[in-house]
Amino acid sequence: MPRIVVAGSANMDLVGLAARLPLPGETVLGDDFVMGPGGKGANQAIAAARAGGETTFLGALGSDSFGVTLKARLTGAGVRTDDVRVSYGSSGVAVIMVDRAGENSILVSPGANSTFVNLTDAEKAVIAGADVLVCQQEIPLATITEAARAAHAGGTLVILNAAPARELPPELLATVDLLVVNELEAQAITGPGGPQMAGLLALVPRVVLTLSGEGSWYADRDGRSERIPAFRVEVADTTAAGDAFTGALAVAWGEGRDLVEAVRWANAAGAVCVRKVGASASLPTRAEIDALFATA
Ligand code: ADP
Repeated sequence: MPRIVVAGSANMDLVGLAARLPLPGETVLGDDFVMGPGGKGANQAIAAARAGGETTFLGALGSDSFGVTLKARLTGAGVRTDDVRVSYGSSGVAVIMVDRAGENSILVSPGANSTFVNLTDAEKAVIAGADVLVCQQEIPLATITEAARAAHAGGTLVILNAAPARELPPELLATVDLLVVNELEAQAITGPGGPQMAGLLALVPRVVLTLSGEGSWYADRDGRSERIPAFRVEVADTTAAGDAFTGALAVAWGEGRDLVEAVRWANAAGAVCVRKVGASASLPTRAEIDALFATA
């Protein structure tokens, strides 16, 4: 089993459903309420574990009851949490309101995620001992850079999912082996209208551009460039498709598969995810990914 480390965010998602979203100052009586683990770091760790990776999550949870629940959910999904920090105060929380048309308003309070700074020697050792490190951009940039450096020094492959789009310091880019971005994130990095893929390859050696229902585009500095079509599925909810994709991609690359084949398999993971409603609940198992992949 490939050893995957995800260094990133964990949030408790508090999702309230209502006929319509409240206006400023207004109170609306809602319908249902659902609570579940979220944050791109936790989601991608769960995705990688379900896809068959021996997965460790590194990050910071709060000392509140959400922190306890988040840890239990990660462990329950098969993610190793021995090195997760607990910092005094609130966990990261996303307060999400969804109306009956599917429109939403989201307030993210980073809480403990913003205390995840200055990696310890133990955290760096976990990263250096892995096959693949996966980072996103919901934790302090200095921490991502430190994690990527520890990986680079230890011969661990570095996947950066540059989501949400933020500045990319050159010292971070210098350690990235594979950049995973959707079209909006790519535009935020290279500017609209330009030759996106060429612009991205000027920064990092390998790029996967995810194209939602159109699949993905893999390209690298060795001149390889392949469009990999999406699996045709009935779409129920596209939430967490990118997280399912990135977690599965890390596992497949960690297994030593050719990157284009790895992307094809990750496309299957993204497609299984969009067939189901939910965030972390819709992240697919290895058996589900293999079953759809076999139909290609
Ligand atoms: P993000 O969620 O980060 O915006 P995308 O929407 O590009 O990412 O989705 C990630 C991957 O999930 C895509 O590359 C594709 O393989 C798969 N996917 C997403 N939407 C669909 C869809 N409607 N049908 C089939 N596969 C999809």
